[in-house]
Order: sequence, then C-alpha cells, then structure tokens
Amino acid sequence: MKEKFLGVDVSSYTYNQLKKNIISDIEQNKQSFIVAINPEKILQAQKNVILLRLLNQATYQIPDGVGVLLASKIYGGNISERVTGIDMLLTLCEQASTYGKSIFLYGAQPGVAEKAKENLLRKYPNLNIVGVMDGYVDDHEYIKKQINAAKPDILCVGLGSPRQENWIVDNMKNLDVRIFQGVGGSFDVLSG
Ligand code: UDP
Repeated sequence: MKEKFLGVDVSSYTYNQLKKNIISDIEQNKQSFIVAINPEKILQAQKNVILLRLLNQATYQIPDGVGVLLASKIYGGNISERVTGIDMLLTLCEQASTYGKSIFLYGAQPGVAEKAKENLLRKYPNLNIVGVMDGYVDDHEYIKKQINAAKPDILCVGLGSPRQENWIVDNMKNLDVRIFQGVGGSFDVLSG
C-alpha cells in the first residue's frame, strides 16, 4: 500500500483504512509511526539522506498535499484522497474517543497544547487525554518519564519537522506508546 515519489514512500490508504489500521495496531500492541508527506518534504529529502531514511522508516506516510495526489495520478498510482496532518490528528481523537483509547499531546509553546486539549474535549467530550507537555522542556528524561507514567495509546508530537520525526525515531523504543504522529503546528491551530 505504498508508492514512491523521488525515493520517498507515501501510503495509499484512505482515512477509512487508516482508522481501522490504527485501532488494530493498538489492539495488537504494535508500535506505529505516522508522518505527513508533502512536496516540500519530498524535495528536502532529495538533499538530505538522513531525512529520506527517517521518512521511509515511518509506518504510515500520509499524503498531505494535492501535489502528492497529482503526482500519483500522473504516474498511474492509487492515492485517491488527501490526508492532512491535522485531519489525521482529529481522526485519531475520534477513534480514541469511540474505542476508549488514550492520547497525549506533546509540543508547541507553553499553554498551547493545554488550550488545544480544552478545545478537543469540547469536540470529543469522551476523549481520554492523559497528558499534555509543551515542546520547550529541555529535560528529555523527564519528558519520557511523564509520557511513560501516563501510558497513552497515542502520542501526538508537535515539534515541527524534521525535529518531531527525529524525536519519534530516537525515542519510540523507550516509550510505552503504540501510535506516534508528528503533528507539526496542529496544536497552534487547535488552540485558536
Ligand atoms: N516547536 C516546539 N519545540 C521546538 C520547536 C518548535 O514545540 O523546539 C513547536 C512550535 O511551537 C510549533 C511547532 O513546533 O507549535 C512547529 O510548527 P510549524 O507549523 O513550523 O511546523 P511544520 O508543520 O511546518 O513542521
């Protein structure tokens, strides 16, 4: 279920397929990593082999950008639906709310993820948000300890790209978390 654009993998799953996969990954105790791919990241990866490797290491590379859809169409691929980082985050919240899974928000300036949490709870009153942490805490051991104590099924990491992808790959083995998503500036948007 992947297509390659200038060496970068992109998943051809729709929201509906991703929804099912994510819940099934959690149920099977599988660790998965979601990264949003847009043409800008594909171009950056041409000059940065470490970034290219990092993006291809993800479990689901969601097609976040009409450019990716267009390229798929031109090359006879199957990517039929744009899946944006923020909509994927909302999909995770909806699924977590429906299936009783927990979520942790990590990233953005102090207070922002807290405000995003309030707004998400207004939209999904049953959502179990087990923790919030800003993205400017320097003590990495403390961050890991807080996340592991909260044991979220889903961790949304909003540190900007490629910082968040680096952070996820470096830390996922040591975290008691199933689904990781790099969400960029989504907490800023959701806090408004
Ligand atoms: N950020 C952070 N810690 C850092 C650097 C950035 O938490 O050390 C946050 C920043 O506050 C913002 C997000 O990362 O909320 C980056 O947003 P941007 O829209 O630039 O990311 P992109 O989606 O373009 O990767």
